[in-house]
Amino acid sequence: MAISYKPQLKYIDFQDLTEQIRFQSTEGKIWFGEQRMLLMQVNAMATFRREMVNTMGIERAKGFFLRLGYQSGLKDAELARKLRPHCSELDIFLAGPQLHSLKGMVKAVPIEIDIDQETGSFYCELEWIDSFEVDICQTELGQMEEPACWSLLGYACAYTSSFMGREIIFREVSCRGSGDDKCMIVGKPAEEWEDMTEFTKYFKADPIIEELYDLQSQVSSLRSSLEKQQGQYYGIGQSTSYNKVCKMIDKAAMGKVSVLLLGETGVGKEVIARSVHLRSERAEQPFIAVNCAAIPPDLIEAELFGVEKGAYTGANQSRPGRFERANTGTIFLDEVVELTPRAQATLLRVLQEGELERVGDNRTRSVNVRVIAATNESLEKAVEEGRFRSDLFYRLNVFPVKIPPLRERFEDLSLLAEHFLGKFHSEYNKRTLGLSDKAMDMCMHYHWPGNIRELGNVIERGVILTDNNESISCESLFAGVPEPQPKEPQGVVDNQGQLVEEGCEGATGDWASQILGNGIGLDDVEETLMRRAMEEANQNVSGAARILGLTRPALAYRLKKFGMLAES
Ligand SMILES: [Zn+2]
Repeated sequence: MAISYKPQLKYIDFQDLTEQIRFQSTEGKIWFGEQRMLLMQVNAMATFRREMVNTMGIERAKGFFLRLGYQSGLKDAELARKLRPHCSELDIFLAGPQLHSLKGMVKAVPIEIDIDQETGSFYCELEWIDSFEVDICQTELGQMEEPACWSLLGYACAYTSSFMGREIIFREVSCRGSGDDKCMIVGKPAEEWEDMTEFTKYFKADPIIEELYDLQSQVSSLRSSLEKQQGQYYGIGQSTSYNKVCKMIDKAAMGKVSVLLLGETGVGKEVIARSVHLRSERAEQPFIAVNCAAIPPDLIEAELFGVEKGAYTGANQSRPGRFERANTGTIFLDEVVELTPRAQATLLRVLQEGELERVGDNRTRSVNVRVIAATNESLEKAVEEGRFRSDLFYRLNVFPVKIPPLRERFEDLSLLAEHFLGKFHSEYNKRTLGLSDKAMDMCMHYHWPGNIRELGNVIERGVILTDNNESISCESLFAGVPEPQPKEPQGVVDNQGQLVEEGCEGATGDWASQILGNGIGLDDVEETLMRRAMEEANQNVSGAARILGLTRPALAYRLKKFGMLAES
C-alpha cells in the first residue's frame, strides 16, 4: 500500500523517542535506548573536520563523514523499528528525521514522502534547517564548492535503505554550506540516480594506507635512482676521516684538476669519481668509467684511444675509444697501474697536450677530458719498480685523495647499512625490519676486507633471504661466508651449564697462541689430543686413528710411548 506524506495531517510526535534518553551521570553514561551516546561540542567537531579536510583532502574527508553518518543511520533504523512496532510505515520512517532533530543535528522538515514498502518504490524530499554541518563550514572552512551536509546525508541514506530493505540514495540538491538559500535533499532508489556508482564509492572505506605505501615505494625507487645519479652513497658518513675526504672532493670537483683516488678495493672509488664529475661544470657531459685491469693488455690502447680500420687483424672498422666518447666530460680510469707502457705514453700526451691518435691512425684528434684515476696499490712503488712512468705519476698525482677502508670508519657502518637496506628494499620490493642487533654487532666486529662493496653484497643477500617484517639475522647476512670471529671473547654456556668464555673449549679462536701463552708443551698437546680422540672413539684405537688422521699402527705407537696403551 502506497502512503504519501500530507503536511496537514497529524503524525506521531517525538515523545516516544525523547523518553529513550537516560542520563546516568554518576556512571558517566548517557543512554539512548540501548545505545550509549556522547554529548560533545559542535565546535570540537568543527576543528576535527577542518583537520580532516586539511590532512586528507576534501574527497576523502567527505567519504569519512558520510560513513560516520551512515553508521549512525543504521543504528537508528533499528531503534525506530523497535520503538514503533504498531505504527504506520510513515510514522516509523519519520523517526529518522525526528531523531536527527532530537540529536540537535538538523531540523528535518518533510516536503514530500511517497513510500510503498511492498513494491519498494520510494521518493522523498526534505528540507534541512539549521544543519550543524553548515554551521561548521561557516566557522571553520568557509563556503564550500559543493553541498556540505555530509554526515547528515550518510545518515539519511543508511536509515532509509535499512527501512526500505533496498538501497536508497539521498542527494543534497541545494545546500547553504555551498551558498544556496536552503538545504534540500531528495531520496530515490539507487538505480534511479544516473551517477549512483560514483556516489556510492564514498560509502566504501578507502584505506589511505595502501596509497601511502605505494607512494612510499615510488619515492624510494626515485630516491635510489637519484642517488645513482648523484654518486650513490657518496657523502654518507659522519666519521672524521670520511668527512675529510668529502671536503677534499668537494674542493677538487669544481676545478679541472686530475684527481687520483687511493684506497683498497671496494671503498667506493667509482662512486666518488662519479660524484666529482656530477659536482663539476661537466656534470651534463659524459662520464665514462674504465677498469683498466679488466681489459686485456693488447687491447687496452684501442679500447681507450680508438682504432682505425686495418690497424691490426680483427680491426674491421674504425671506432672511437673511451677518451673520444668522454670528450668534454670525465673519464674514470680504475686500476690505472695496469696500463701498458704504450698506453701510459698516450695517456700522458692526452693530459699534456689534450690530443691523441687512434691505433693505426696518423691523424691527431683533440680531446678535452678530465681524468680521474684510481689505484689500490702504491703508484710510487710501481714507479720504483719501473712499471709506471714517473712523469705520468706526477701528472696524475696533482690531487691525491686517500679513501679510508671501512674498518677505519666503523662509525659510518650503520648509516651505510641503512642506505643499502633502503636500496635493496626498493630493488626487491621488500620490507624487512633491518639488521637484528646481533647481526649489527657482528658487522661491527668484522674487518670487511671487501669494504663498502662487500657490505652492500652482504646486505643484499640478507634482504633476499629475509621475509617481509622480519629482522635480518646473522645467518642470512653472512650465509655461505665464514662467520666473522668477534674480537672480544663472548660468554657462552658450556655443556655443564656454566658460563665460560667462548674459545676456551673448541678451537675457534687463535688456539696456537693460547697454548703457547699458557706454556703448554707439544707432548701435552699430543697426549690431550689422543686422550680426547680415544674417548670419542670409545677407546677403539682404529676409530681414534681415523679421527686424528693417522694410521692405526702410528697411533698405537704413540699411545704406547705415552703409556696409554698396554704393550701387546
Ligand atoms: Zn546542507
